[in-house]
Amino acid sequence: MAHAFQWICRNLPPSKLQCIRLPVPLSTHLSTRSMAKSRFEYVRQFEAQDACLPNCWIVVRIDGKAFHRFSDVHNYEKPNDPRGLGLMNCAAQTVLSEIKDLILAYGQSDEYSFVFRKNTKTYNRRASKLMTTIVSLFASAFVFHWPKYFTNAPLQYPPAFDGRVVLYPSVQNLQDYLSWRQADCHINNLYNTCFWNLVLEAGLTPSQAQERLKGTVAGEKNELLFSQFNINYNDLSQMYRKGTVVYWASQPVETSSDDTDPSSEPPGRNRTILHTEHCDIIGSDFWKDHPHLLGSDNA
Ligand code: ATP
Ligand code: ATP
Ligand code: MG
Ligand code: MG
Repeated sequence: MAHAFQWICRNLPPSKLQCIRLPVPLSTHLSTRSMAKSRFEYVRQFEAQDACLPNCWIVVRIDGKAFHRFSDVHNYEKPNDPRGLGLMNCAAQTVLSEIKDLILAYGQSDEYSFVFRKNTKTYNRRASKLMTTIVSLFASAFVFHWPKYFTNAPLQYPPAFDGRVVLYPSVQNLQDYLSWRQADCHINNLYNTCFWNLVLEAGLTPSQAQERLKGTVAGEKNELLFSQFNINYNDLSQMYRKGTVVYWASQPVETSSDDTDPSSEPPGRNRTILHTEHCDIIGSDFWKDHPHLLGSDNA
């Protein structure tokens, strides 16, 4: 009998246990469950203690594995496929909506960086738990939402993403980290835009295009785009040039036109919603406009 109860306690979720009539209080069995030890229990000691340092900003960056190939196999438009970027942004929105204490994410190409509230207690700050939950949720959301973005282009194989955790002890370090990723977006996008125009429009081979761009500075690349392809770099989509920031911010509730709708919220209230923008985050304007993001609210 005792074994039967132990089995039930071990295998049924607490919600189901509430429905079963037990001869002694449920709490007795639940404590039996948590205390149940076997002689194998000692192997727990081999687990690494990987709690992130207190008082540091925790950043998890994920990056597509071999997306050079993945984008080729799935015929991504070059240099930027808006479907691919839209899907990455959608997966990031899913992650921010599901994982408590994420305040902001920044993404470009096949990568996304997620920033936790500075003193988050999620998973007791255990690095492996935080990282693996984000990377697996991101990957499953990417696959789940694929057909909405790539209509009539089935997924050819399961994509993978890697992940890493980095800690930043100051706001300045964290802002510099995000600036580094956005600067990388700009440098790569300018190069890739030149490269793919030389290949697709001017008919150069990839190695000829590479040779043509070797040693050129930003100004020369801008000039090449303008003189040879009539492209003003600054007119390209902001999403391609700046990447994407997804963040929580409150905004006033809009007044409903239907005053009789009982579900409509009263005006003058604020609601916290997820924003998705393609703005500059290297300068100070974004941070001045959203002081709550890195301020004491999120300590
Ligand atoms: P955590 O996020 O901390 O891991 P959890 O709810 O996933 O929380 P676990 O200790 O991992 O907790 O337990 C997984 C639970 O999932 C089991 O207790 C059981 O209720 C349920 N579960 C998993 N697989 C099955 C299955 N094949 N059939 C029925 N229930 C299952
Ligand atoms: P690794 O596994 O080391 O990350 P990788 O092939 O994924 O290798 P990255 O440096 O991460 O290399 O580069 C990602 C590549 O994915 C880009 O160079 C680009 O070719 C491609 N890519 C990703 N997203 C898009 C997109 N939206 N449009 C076009 N190409 C894209
Ligand atoms: Mg990659
Ligand atoms: Mg990458």
